[in-house]
Amino acid sequence: MRLLVSNGTVVTAAGPVRADIACADGRVAALVEPAAPTQADEVLDASGCLVFPGFIDPHVHSRDPGATDKEDFGHSTMGALAGGITTVLEMPNAIPPVTDAAMFRERARHHERSAWVDFGLWGLSLGRSNIDELEGLFAEGAVAVKLFWGYALDRDTKQLIYNTAGHPPERLLAPPETGDVWDVCREVARVGGLLGAHCEDRHVLDAAQRATGAVETYAELMASRPDTAEAAAIALATELSRSTGCRFHVVHMSSARGAELVRSAQAAGVALTAETCPHYLLLTDASFDLLGPLMKVYPPVRAEADRQALWAAVLDDTISSLGSDHAPHTVADRQGPLGAQPAGMIGVETLVPLLLDEVTHGRLPVTRLTQILAERTARLYGLYPRKGALLPGSDADMTVVDPDASWTIDNEALHAKQPLSPWHGWRVRGMPVASVLRGRVVMRDREPVGERRGRLVRARHQAPATGPETATTR
Ligand SMILES: [Zn+2]
Repeated sequence: MRLLVSNGTVVTAAGPVRADIACADGRVAALVEPAAPTQADEVLDASGCLVFPGFIDPHVHSRDPGATDKEDFGHSTMGALAGGITTVLEMPNAIPPVTDAAMFRERARHHERSAWVDFGLWGLSLGRSNIDELEGLFAEGAVAVKLFWGYALDRDTKQLIYNTAGHPPERLLAPPETGDVWDVCREVARVGGLLGAHCEDRHVLDAAQRATGAVETYAELMASRPDTAEAAAIALATELSRSTGCRFHVVHMSSARGAELVRSAQAAGVALTAETCPHYLLLTDASFDLLGPLMKVYPPVRAEADRQALWAAVLDDTISSLGSDHAPHTVADRQGPLGAQPAGMIGVETLVPLLLDEVTHGRLPVTRLTQILAERTARLYGLYPRKGALLPGSDADMTVVDPDASWTIDNEALHAKQPLSPWHGWRVRGMPVASVLRGRVVMRDREPVGERRGRLVRARHQAPATGPETATTR
């Protein structure tokens, strides 16, 4: 099967270039001069369009298996496909969570039955209790291991407990102590993996919540989860990473203080990286009047100064990867007082359109979009150059974009099982109009084409860095 993607402008990580892309057997064969004679079984005409390496959303919670009233993998990956994503990296906190190699294999088989796009899998760190499983998880191809730092877990389901007061104490698994996290860092460094963590310091949150009391307004929500909690966790992560050589990734970073600390850690040579999400780049506390609890996330969306600092960090490469943090809830979950509602919004289908709009309005260079949604993300998670690039031999994954199409995001047109998006009614310019997955056209005009054909993609992380303490002493 030979596919030719013709007449488009290919946006590589180095910049835009006019070229046709010849694909054979699911891989990129060559970038060729436009209109050069090329044999093909099928031609995808990309005239007037931008052709990107298939975009990756590294931060998706599909709730599957487990809370499938909220979402499932078929719905989340169809949304990804419609929204111009060709690979999702699935978070490990379904029920049961991905805590060892056997569960990794089972989850991969489970998801291959319903995947519309390719997927990688995160593993879950439970602190010391599954530290011996991390090597096996990375050997299977886990893209990273996730630490929900500071969260207690349910002893049986290993689900996060947001409110320990309402949970039977005998079923609480206490959050890992700093020393346990240090051990996890040392082990991840030893096996050459990547640790990704939710960074909000538990003790700072506890103090802030004592001071705030019941949360009813957005100001109280912000006060109960201050940027000091994020900054304190990142400062500690910096030291743990520095001392172990562990590659440490701060997911969904939300604050100016966080960005400042990551920037200085990187300048000092620490292997710290960071992600942020569209809601932190496009919303502020002032958005709450319009959106209400639909924009409740942890860490919270903060002030205008934070939003601006995060943009600066995206543009100067302090933040090297963007994800949606697709975390669906039901209509029923969205009732009651703000403090009691769960945190999380959907986003896998709107990640690319929202960022394309930033490109068309000149706030985000088009080459930077390729870097943060493809090349840099693929490198970080051990998928490069199979994913994230259009080099000869790369998987022939492409997102084809009409940069001039203006349209309005409509929740009724989204593919999520619970299409409660805060972006309903947003006018955007730039639309993913076609996608190619391993050499096949799989999406046109934001709807799937043909059979679902998503598969597991295994990470191959590079050999461990020789940090000061990578020889384990646990
Ligand atoms: Zn998340």
